[in-house]
Amino acid sequence: MQYRMDKNGNALSVLGFGMMRLKRRQDDTLDEQWAINTLRYAIDQGLNYVDTAYAYGDSERVTGLCLQDGYREKVTLASKLPVRMMTCAEDFDRILNEQLQRLQTDHIDYYLLHALNRETWEREVKQYRVLEQAEKAKQEGKIKYIGFSFHDNLDAFRQILNGYDQWDFCQIQLNYMDVDYQAGITGLKEAHEKGLAVIIMEPLRGGTLANVPSEVARLLPTEPVESALNFLWNMPEVTVVLSGMSEFDQVEQNLTYAHKAQAGMLSQQQVQQTVAAGETMRRSLSIPCTGCNYCNVCPQQIPIPELFALENQRMADGDNAGARQRYAQLGDKVAERCVGCGACVKQCPQTIDIPQKLAKLCSIYK
Ligand code: SF4
Ligand code: SF4
Repeated sequence: MQYRMDKNGNALSVLGFGMMRLKRRQDDTLDEQWAINTLRYAIDQGLNYVDTAYAYGDSERVTGLCLQDGYREKVTLASKLPVRMMTCAEDFDRILNEQLQRLQTDHIDYYLLHALNRETWEREVKQYRVLEQAEKAKQEGKIKYIGFSFHDNLDAFRQILNGYDQWDFCQIQLNYMDVDYQAGITGLKEAHEKGLAVIIMEPLRGGTLANVPSEVARLLPTEPVESALNFLWNMPEVTVVLSGMSEFDQVEQNLTYAHKAQAGMLSQQQVQQTVAAGETMRRSLSIPCTGCNYCNVCPQQIPIPELFALENQRMADGDNAGARQRYAQLGDKVAERCVGCGACVKQCPQTIDIPQKLAKLCSIYK
């Protein structure tokens, strides 16, 4: 395993375990035994960064189970405050205490303000004195380092990055398709220059970059997952790349790549090839959904990420009949159930106009 240092002298493994997309059983509950075995296996192989969040359903509780039997001490544990869910200043302590309980620990190492954007930065963070309270929690030893995860444009990123002088780290979405999207590579470099550790999320864009169309695969220097991860690790400004692994094979594969990950390991030509593949991928992707499931608030119970995944698959492989069949399996006229209330749009970190995309699906699959 390769390691990179954060500003506080901690050696973090270049591969982090994202606990958002853990394997599920048939009844849709998390497969606890799989999570315990798999995470502990990865830790035994040298992985030492584990990322969860209050808002990831049952993930914190399962992470707490995984980290029993001496594993908690072996990792840097990251979790996130659901800033958007706060309705008063007192929520900070209430939520943090609940997180410590769920995680069965007395402190969280990397504590993030979750999914900040211009709005939440101006509204909840200031209104509920979140940073002041985070500093107090740091003094009390309940958290070690303060950071934020981010979904908005570069201007908003700069506003947040420069709006507080004690950030230890940040977490941004970055992959070879999104080099100029949200914070992008420019944001990565600016955060690094300020001394922050930078944690990367969505390196495979919710799995989309693991399964690319042949015209994209042809452009990549190595197989798709290796190319996507190497593109990130090649940059010295990247500290940890998170991967939300839900199959044991993925863990094995990613560990193999992480053992070899070095900054500057790609030639200029390989970097250019990968960026060109990203441009082709962007053109071939109909809907930029990462499958994060944050839009799971729909009063009509529309399975939005599943619908978008099948439409992207149809665009990639041209299998119209197969897509139609899978569409029908999701329910009768499922996209047509949308009443345009907009609840999902407010949650989407990719700012997708979900009702408009669903209306398009209605006409394609009618
Ligand atoms: S806009 Fe449509 S898809 Fe979104 S939450 Fe409302 S009903 Fe559901
Ligand atoms: S539509 Fe947006 S919120 Fe929903 S899964 Fe896709 S990226 Fe996430």
